[in-house]
Amino acid sequence: MYEVHKFGGASIGSLDRIKNTINIIKSFRSDSKIIIFSAMGKVTNMLEQIIISSYKGEIYFNQFEKLKNYHYCLIDKLSLKECDLFSEIDLLFEELKKTLKNRSDNYQLYYDQNVVYGELISTKIMSILLNLENFDNQVIDARDIIMTDDNYCNANINWTKTKRKIIKYFKKKNIITQGFIGSNENHSTTLGREGSDFTAAIISNCLEIKKLTIWKDVPGLMNCDPKIFKSSIQLKEVPYDEVIELAHYGAKVIHPRTIKPLKEKNINLIIRSFENLQSEGTSVFNHASIKPMVSSIILKKNQVLISVSNADLSLFQQKNFNEVIEQANDLNINLNIVQSSAISCSFTIDQNFCSEIFLKKLEKKFKVSYNNDLSLVTIRHYNQKIVKSVIFEKKIFLQQKSRNTVSFVLKF
Ligand code: ASP
Ligand code: MG
Repeated sequence: MYEVHKFGGASIGSLDRIKNTINIIKSFRSDSKIIIFSAMGKVTNMLEQIIISSYKGEIYFNQFEKLKNYHYCLIDKLSLKECDLFSEIDLLFEELKKTLKNRSDNYQLYYDQNVVYGELISTKIMSILLNLENFDNQVIDARDIIMTDDNYCNANINWTKTKRKIIKYFKKKNIITQGFIGSNENHSTTLGREGSDFTAAIISNCLEIKKLTIWKDVPGLMNCDPKIFKSSIQLKEVPYDEVIELAHYGAKVIHPRTIKPLKEKNINLIIRSFENLQSEGTSVFNHASIKPMVSSIILKKNQVLISVSNADLSLFQQKNFNEVIEQANDLNINLNIVQSSAISCSFTIDQNFCSEIFLKKLEKKFKVSYNNDLSLVTIRHYNQKIVKSVIFEKKIFLQQKSRNTVSFVLKF
């Protein structure tokens, strides 16, 4: 039986962390392991900036050199000059250069062809390092196993094909593969930002593994982001459904699509810290109760609150709303919170390059107003005290409340 582990960008973002991750991997006991890596550190963000610049026809030479240097400095510090690592990575950067030049009008398609290099480079580096450390392994290109449709940037899995490929390819002892990326046979595709968790869940599902471990820079699933809120508490046990809710509202610790494939096969998910190996982390399984039972606060920053109405301020009907949804779907944009009135509809979306395109498209059809730089704060299992402390002295733009959950759009 395979052991499956996923290491995110933070776990391989610096020299010390790479060494730490290698030590963790070497301590795994099972005979055959599958290790899934994200791109190193903040590489995907860097690549994203390069892709946007190139797509807009701007010069990106400096950004490209910065990306290259980031990797080369790491390799240099690992003093591996004697092996082929530099030339292997060089080849990948040359390939990336070519793919960047291959401009397409379809931004999402173009994005996916280029952004995959973050993961291709990280797995190449990690595989060579691990082999040198006597952790014999083979890299499998995730684009040979994770088969998807052509919904670029947020591709849907073709489960039948993927399962067939995974079973065919996963025969070797230790395997290293990329999270986040897949293919539709003609082109590279990706599963959405932070999608490596999802890859790990897909592989675990197809191989019917008992347990998946995701290694993070936090002790486990926290009731709020420790980098933002002072008093955070680690959740020890959580049922799948609660994690789906938390991820849905924007809890960054896990990609929203991760849980379903795990729940389907009853796979125990362990989220634990690569920095504190004493801590057992958070265990996610079907009949878990939330332990300890505390409120969770989820902060989703960089939100644009958009209100749309018909130009003549007539009733905002279902069909108008459907038009908005269609346009959002075309750009793979999620409406994070939606509220409608008789003559308008308001919602927030993530603020990025696509949100600008979306606004321009909406403005052609509707009367549009919007506010940038807002946050969506959601409190699960709220009580008045916690609500008060979160919204204290903040200007609230929109709010929504149900029995278990309250959300606010505000300036944080
Ligand atoms: N590297 C990708 C990202 O940063 C995927 C991942 O880290 O899971 O979004
Ligand atoms: Mg990442």
